Amino acid sequence: MEIADRIKELAQEYRDETAENLSKLVKIRSLSREEEEVQLELKRQMETVGFDELKTDGLGNVIGRMGNGKKILAIDAHMDTVNVGNPDNWEFDPFSGEIKNGHVLGRGSVDQKGGAASFVTGAKILKELGFDRDLTVYFVGSVMEEDCDGLCWKYIIEEDKIKPDIVICTEPTSCNICRGHRGRMEIEVVFRGISAHGSAPERGKNAIYMASEACLDIKDLNERLKRDAFLGKGSATITEFISNSPSLCAVADYAKIHVDRRLTWGETKESAVAQIEELLKNGDAEVRVLEYEESAYTGLKYGMEKYYPTWKLPTHHVAVKTGVDVYKSLFGKAPKVDKWTFSTNAVTIRGMYGIPTIGFGPGDETLAHAPNEKVPIEDLLKASAFFALYAYRI
Ligand SMILES: [Zn+2]
Repeated sequence: MEIADRIKELAQEYRDETAENLSKLVKIRSLSREEEEVQLELKRQMETVGFDELKTDGLGNVIGRMGNGKKILAIDAHMDTVNVGNPDNWEFDPFSGEIKNGHVLGRGSVDQKGGAASFVTGAKILKELGFDRDLTVYFVGSVMEEDCDGLCWKYIIEEDKIKPDIVICTEPTSCNICRGHRGRMEIEVVFRGISAHGSAPERGKNAIYMASEACLDIKDLNERLKRDAFLGKGSATITEFISNSPSLCAVADYAKIHVDRRLTWGETKESAVAQIEELLKNGDAEVRVLEYEESAYTGLKYGMEKYYPTWKLPTHHVAVKTGVDVYKSLFGKAPKVDKWTFSTNAVTIRGMYGIPTIGFGPGDETLAHAPNEKVPIEDLLKASAFFALYAYRI
């Protein structure tokens, strides 16, 4: 029997188990930096598969290794989720993990514990088939993605010293293939004015006016940002405006704006900062890129600059071509090869460290961070088969 057919058969056989594993993961609340319990559950599920090595690293990522080959493939799923938002918008309990009408229900089912449950089954299939290719496969349940995408992989590459040749990021793609997304960065601009009595504003310099002019300039800048045929347009918007003055009867001497900047192909931290500095060249303002630094659930403090580089792989790259080939073998037709709208751990994996990355994951990305999140069990089955066959074909 063809290996692809055998893998499909096993994915079908383990279908209910995959759904039940996901249900267990969904039942455990796991906001960023609070992944300890869900990590224990994922590790328990991975233990039943039997990896050559299974550990939790200093940042709290759970990492299972299969094989010992020179070439390294990693499959990543972040274990943290965002909060539920207004509970009234949900038609079911976000933490029930209920399995109903061919779906697993709840927060994180799509974004993206479904990826983790599917890779556990993918690993189980490889084990069952006695996988012995000259390849190392790491299965990674990662932390803190919703807080600082890519930070976990900065740790894995720099501290765990694991540097894969190819990574599959299992964020939701509705079981299509993704080969890129826009990058992003968080910029703050601080304006310093001079206060004066509110009865004589001409004596002072109002920081609110300075910031307001800059806001309108940034609105215009957004309109003329460059566009990439595949990734779309870069964007800039103001997400916060803070000001201060000695009293409500005084000219404001301080204002601060927060800019959410999405970066398309060819836009970098340097180019984005320079554009804003150019707008401010006649004013007294300071532009800075924010830093992230927080403690993981393990207690370890770790951080990085809030610059998340843009990435894309060409369609003819071997990582993409292998994905297309695996898809055709399993499902008998060509996949859609697309991009994500949101950002993922690939910002560091590919954007910072240059490691070829593709996306393939269960669930519809429009349900990520939304109420009534649920994932089709059929998608979990497809993803588990895809991960297993990818390990054979790469
Ligand atoms: Zn996600």
